[in-house]
Amino acid sequence: MGDIVVKKSKIHGKGVFANKDFKKGEIVVKYNLKKLTKKEFESLPDKEKHFISREGKDYLLFLSPERYVNHSCNPNTNSLKECDVAVKNIKKGEEITGDYFKEAIPNLNMKCNCGSKNCKEIIK
Ligand SMILES: [Zn+2]
Repeated sequence: MGDIVVKKSKIHGKGVFANKDFKKGEIVVKYNLKKLTKKEFESLPDKEKHFISREGKDYLLFLSPERYVNHSCNPNTNSLKECDVAVKNIKKGEEITGDYFKEAIPNLNMKCNCGSKNCKEIIK
């Protein structure tokens, strides 16, 4: 099972949850990015294109578990290189969240349900 689990989320679809306590600064999620060529990217179905991040001329496809990390306007992790790092102490059972505004995922346009006080509600 490991340190994190993917299961149904109250925020949106599936989510990633801590399966142990994490301390601030610890790596929570290690990405499983797959590098695609432009041609491979263009042949992806639209719903897969939501999980693409551009890095220069590379197209990086987010796989599991990182694609299931939900957005929160008050996230408990920060994307650093190819990891999500805890920005606060996270307890076992808490949902792992990141800030998609910073992570610059193109084509993303969804309603945010994170419920935090500073929620921006629409993610573009
Ligand atoms: Zn929000």
